[in-house]
Amino acid sequence: MFDLSGKTAIVTGARRGIGRGIVLALAEAGADVVVSDISQEDCQKVVEEIEGLGKRAFAVKCDVTQKSEVDEMVKKTVEEFGKIDILVNNAGIAPLKPFLEISEEEWDKVLDVNLKGYFLCAQAAAREMVKQKSGKIVNIASVAMGQMGVGFANLAHYCASKGGVAALTEELCLELTPKGINVNAIAPGVIETPMSEPILADPEVKKGLLARIPRGRVGQPEDVAHAVVFLSSAEADYISGAVLTVDGGWLAG
Ligand code: NAP
Repeated sequence: MFDLSGKTAIVTGARRGIGRGIVLALAEAGADVVVSDISQEDCQKVVEEIEGLGKRAFAVKCDVTQKSEVDEMVKKTVEEFGKIDILVNNAGIAPLKPFLEISEEEWDKVLDVNLKGYFLCAQAAAREMVKQKSGKIVNIASVAMGQMGVGFANLAHYCASKGGVAALTEELCLELTPKGINVNAIAPGVIETPMSEPILADPEVKKGLLARIPRGRVGQPEDVAHAVVFLSSAEADYISGAVLTVDGGWLAG
């Protein structure tokens, strides 16, 4: 089960954190992968780890807000691997800022990376996937996407962008599933990465969070990565338009 041998995948924001966990897990499941990030720092290290698993991998510098760079990433993937089977929209930013202090530029930047970037990558990848009448797109949303029973202060732009990701996932499901492309989202809870470092660094905040997570620990990138492998596999062929929470049971509390 969950065998991705012969499949090819692009993961954005893959040099560290959840993206790195995803790209490694996809390779462990058998896929050849593209390690894409805005910065090339550490990308080559991730590529070498994947090559150590016996899979093909290469790094691509791609700022997901730039259509030309997204198109180039997709073109290079098709040139190197011949096709794209899996796209994981993961690159994101979450700068903490009180709502009353967020500038127009800061708002635009978060929406550009976290929502427009997902649109650009999904469109470019899907234009390739429709040719083979198959594909899997997995969008990394967040439990901070609204309507989930939990709120997040100082992240108005982030929460709005993630709500947009959930809506985009549902809409793309309608348009792309008939063309053989499954589109799903994952909503992680708190995952230990550089992004969540400022939140988890406060022992009181961390204690409060842990008290609300039935699993009793914060998540690790692998927890999200395993869900991505499942949604990318043939076993998930009948799942499209879903948002899967990966939160240690937080939302049930
Ligand atoms: P992370 O450790 O900060 O990694 C995000 C990666 O995305 C970084 O390598 C970052 O590069 C890259 N990136 C930023 N802007 C980009 C752009 N314009 N184009 C391409 N890459 C870009 O964050 P993470 O925690 O792994 O988060 C990954 C995803 O999970 C995000 O979508 C996030 O919203 C979501 N998520 C995270 C959590 C959590 O608790 N960590 C919870 C729910 C959802 P730089 O380092 O150079 O900026």
